[in-house]
Amino acid sequence: MKEIDCPHHGPQPPAVVCTAVKAALDDGEVHGFHWWEDDRGIPCALCDDCAEAMDSDAERPHALEVICGACFESIWNMNDQPPRIS
Ligand SMILES: [Zn+2]
Ligand SMILES: [Zn+2]
Repeated sequence: MKEIDCPHHGPQPPAVVCTAVKAALDDGEVHGFHWWEDDRGIPCALCDDCAEAMDSDAERPHALEVICGACFESIWNMNDQPPRIS
């Protein structure tokens, strides 16, 4: 995946999050942050609801979106820097 051009951070490596995780950037509310790196080394994060759905093989309630790596890190900070899950 190529770099994305973030309106806040300029060109950045991409990250993938569900829409509830991304919403924290706009409303400052956190909904959990379960994160890992995929086999291309791209960081991915899901909210509590999506992580629970994934654990029970249910359908995730939120779509996934690509955001910039620096935005990903700010949301991670807002969630008190949880360790990665795998
Ligand atoms: Zn979610
Ligand atoms: Zn950004």
